[in-house]
Amino acid sequence: MQLVWFRDDLRVHDHPALFAAAQRGEPVVALYIASPQQWQLHDCGPRKAQWHYANVQALREALAGLGIPLTVWRCEHFDDIPARLGALCNEAGIGAVHCHHGLGVNERALEQKLADQLPVPLHRYADANLVDYSAITTGQGGLYQVFTPFARRCRQWMAPPQPLPAPEPQAAQPPLQADDAWSETVDLLWPAGEQAAARTLARFCQQRLSAYHDDRDWPAKAGTSALSPYFAAGVLSPRQAAHALSQQADGEGAQSWLNELLWREFYRYLLYHHARLSRHDALFPAKEARWEANDEWLRRWQQGRTGFPLVDAGMRQLNATGWMHNRVRMLCASFLVKDLHIDWRLGEAYFMQQLVDGDLASNNGGWQWAAGCGADAAPYFRSFSPYRQSERFDPDGDYIRQWVPELAEVPARQLHKGGPFLLAPDYPAPMVDHKAQTARFTAQFKQQMEET
Ligand code: FAD
Repeated sequence: MQLVWFRDDLRVHDHPALFAAAQRGEPVVALYIASPQQWQLHDCGPRKAQWHYANVQALREALAGLGIPLTVWRCEHFDDIPARLGALCNEAGIGAVHCHHGLGVNERALEQKLADQLPVPLHRYADANLVDYSAITTGQGGLYQVFTPFARRCRQWMAPPQPLPAPEPQAAQPPLQADDAWSETVDLLWPAGEQAAARTLARFCQQRLSAYHDDRDWPAKAGTSALSPYFAAGVLSPRQAAHALSQQADGEGAQSWLNELLWREFYRYLLYHHARLSRHDALFPAKEARWEANDEWLRRWQQGRTGFPLVDAGMRQLNATGWMHNRVRMLCASFLVKDLHIDWRLGEAYFMQQLVDGDLASNNGGWQWAAGCGADAAPYFRSFSPYRQSERFDPDGDYIRQWVPELAEVPARQLHKGGPFLLAPDYPAPMVDHKAQTARFTAQFKQQMEET
């Protein structure tokens, strides 16, 4: 009997580990292990746990349709897993365990322990990535640290991505064991499961893809796919997305969307090669600014009470839904580091605690980019102006008013104007002077460079 261990890959289609296990011609059984306390150590918040819970239920149904029973365990810490899984292999007569490679340090350490300690082989496979991270190197055999040449190389290298089918149904097997108790109250905006992901993908391709290039930066428009929660939990593979894309007419929209999928691949590639990123080390430590501690400012940023309308709208969207538009993620991240001079790690952790699509590689990559110490990072002297961003991408203030109801009656032109005045009686004045704070950041960083 072959056991497939599911983690951030909650689907039955295009699942290399499941497919390979089924090819062995023996009965297949499945296991999912919830580790709530370990997740908390990784800053994963309740929304991510809920999202996994809902998708594990959907996975159970999909697997049952293939005759594969899913057993769910609750092991609070990764350390609890090797002995228990070893015992299960012996008791249930498991011949081998199959899983995908994890990218984080702790995930890799756990896999290594399992490989060393299980009484049966652990077979690890690359998940359904668009490219083989171990094979993508520069002409000189080095690693890419800049996105554009990485993406160019991927586009040359990428074989037409052909997703794997789900395995053929087998004679239904009895469950290995009764499930452990694990339940979450699911209150999310995204319907769970592969079918929902496939419907969202198809709708996006039909209705929004052709205009994606123009609409993607406008937070008030439903211009992007909103598929990130499905990618993050592995309910949808990037190969399935790229395959759907290849069925569409090529154009600016399709090219831009592929580029975004490649940004995701780029951050995963960096994490694959620099596991220390998952310990929140800067990719380029020399480009790291000296951060200042200010709990009150951090709290105001978290609550969306900075007095900068677009920043506050973004943070409130995040707090209310567990998702934020990409353009506003960039602005909110830039504001924390360049205007408030607060360590990007605190922003990274807060995003992770709130996001339903929280993803170690993309979140870490996005934050290091904003802080100036990551790949392709925004240089230290460049920052996003909250007013210029809202003027350009939310000119009528629709997004701002949706999330900051105190500003419902304020004319759009006022929303995009700086100044120490109150926009509305119950809305705070700007908490800092944007120009002065970003200038201070630049000056301090320059001085820091001169000293080192
Ligand atoms: P679309 O525009 O439809 O793009 C399609 C897919 O491409 C996305 O679902 C996502 O998987 C990928 N993608 C798009 N933009 C990026 C990007 N800049 N970097 C990496 N992948 C991208 N994305 C996450 O999935 N999880 C995170 O935890 C996360 N944290 C971020 C933190 C910061 C500070 C920043 C600036 C960005 C972060 N992103 C993160 C990237 C991006 O904001 C989201 O992927 C995007 O907003 C999701 O919306 P969508 O599915 O509609 O994207």
